[in-house]
Amino acid sequence: MVCPLCTYETTKLVRIHSVRLGSLKWTLNATILVFICLVMLWNRKYQQFDLVVSSVTAKVKGVASTRLPGQEGVVWDVADYSGPSQDKNSFFVVTNAIVTKRQKQGRCPEPPVSGRLCRHDDDCDEGSWDQHSNGIQTGLCGNFDVLTRTCEVKAWCPIETKTSPPRPALLASAENFTVLIKNNIRFPAFNVTRRNILPLMNDSYLRSCRRANDSLCPIFRLGDVVREAGENFSLMAVEGGVIGIQIKWDCNLDYLTRHCLPRYSFRRLDEKESNKTLYPGFNFRFAKYNTVNGVEERTLYKAFGIRFDVMVFGQAGKFSIIQLVVYIGSTLSYYALTTVLIDWLIRSSCYSADVGVDYSEKKVESVGDRRKSILSVSYVDEDDIRLVRMCRKGRLQEAQTVGVAPRKEDASVRAAVLCLLLSGAGPGGDPQPALVPKAAPLRASWCQCERCIDSALPQEALCCRQSKGACISSSPLFDRLVLHRPLLEALLLYSDPLLPPLPAGGATTAANLRRCAYKQYVTWRFGVLPDDSRPAIPRCCVTRIREEFPAWTDSA
Ligand code: ZN
Ligand code: ZN
Repeated sequence: MVCPLCTYETTKLVRIHSVRLGSLKWTLNATILVFICLVMLWNRKYQQFDLVVSSVTAKVKGVASTRLPGQEGVVWDVADYSGPSQDKNSFFVVTNAIVTKRQKQGRCPEPPVSGRLCRHDDDCDEGSWDQHSNGIQTGLCGNFDVLTRTCEVKAWCPIETKTSPPRPALLASAENFTVLIKNNIRFPAFNVTRRNILPLMNDSYLRSCRRANDSLCPIFRLGDVVREAGENFSLMAVEGGVIGIQIKWDCNLDYLTRHCLPRYSFRRLDEKESNKTLYPGFNFRFAKYNTVNGVEERTLYKAFGIRFDVMVFGQAGKFSIIQLVVYIGSTLSYYALTTVLIDWLIRSSCYSADVGVDYSEKKVESVGDRRKSILSVSYVDEDDIRLVRMCRKGRLQEAQTVGVAPRKEDASVRAAVLCLLLSGAGPGGDPQPALVPKAAPLRASWCQCERCIDSALPQEALCCRQSKGACISSSPLFDRLVLHRPLLEALLLYSDPLLPPLPAGGATTAANLRRCAYKQYVTWRFGVLPDDSRPAIPRCCVTRIREEFPAWTDSA
């Protein structure tokens, strides 16, 4: 058991000597590096960012003269057109209005658009109202005009009758109004505060600056704002709408703070096409009250106008070593793309055919899952070694082939064997005639070489051949390499130089010689064994070796 704390495992790499692959690798890596650097500089990935916190105030200025029905040139100033309420981060400019003057509490017939048509008092329900009503029905039917009779209501009378705003808009000249927007911002993480009215802007600058020639001017003409939002002011003034004024602060605090400047942009926020929208524009009602002779009266305004919403967003970035390290760490995985691409290339058949080498063979080392069940089998009539899965029931000869490995011969062993054969050292003076198995009629059904005796154990049922032919144990080379006793004795002595001379006919001697003979057979027929497998020796050869070095000699 290896102590896990005292070891370190690392990946084994395969180095391919190839100018093409090498230059491809560096080209890809350089491309990735350039990409990473560009993204880093472009998106300022080396910076820590903080979002803007801001406050906005707006001050509208301008006067306009309008001509209301029945009145001569009324002048509207800021208090009139700004509407009664101001929201946070937005301001409102009335551009059009339906004015209903001198309303008093009383009874009057409702206009047909909002009220109920009637002929007699029975058609009206006292005390009833609905969402469109201007008041509560009195139960009487009255003459709205010469032609129409409607239910009378208790309400502010006279009731507002116009439904569509005047065209052109009453205050179309509001496009010449100006607004001063004051925006203070702060980036809390960096404790930086900025203002859109820059320190160098003095009073005379603010009086004279125009957005047309100075994009930093904080005073905007409403007509310019609407035009830059892609709209026509006089059209929009009729029904009203909502315009967004966006102030973007995108600051790089690695430079001087004075480079941190606002950028203004404008766009319309509500639905533009009034003929396609059910409730177009933007309007609301408000009233101004007064008392005439002890009776309360009011003037009702249905005001149409443009609401300007000021939206401030932005961020500031400052160099941060932590962000840089995090970014570099996150980009390292891109280099794996090179490996993926080149691995795909060298695996592709067209590249390996081109260079004549299959790199994936060198790259991938296969390890079997169940080592013991894989046997390697070498048939005389096949060049390669078969890997078969051992099965308890089936015969080994018919076992399923799971792979084929090339026969890897140990060059030094082959040289030694050839040297031995050429030197003429062979079987001793008594060239034994190959023993023909006495139990010839017991030849197994699966045998192809005519020399295998059937076995009760299926894992022993293996022939030396796949197709019919001569048995390997009948080869003279088998006698000289596997059975030649002086050779086996020499080999035993070679591995154990202090081995005492083997007594002839001893049980240990035979066992040793037998083991050595099996080993010789394996070295000869398999060479270097494929990984994770055990050699299987054919039945005919096992029988032949057992006959030569029988186990029962010990009883003698
Ligand atoms: Zn056989
Ligand atoms: Zn055989």
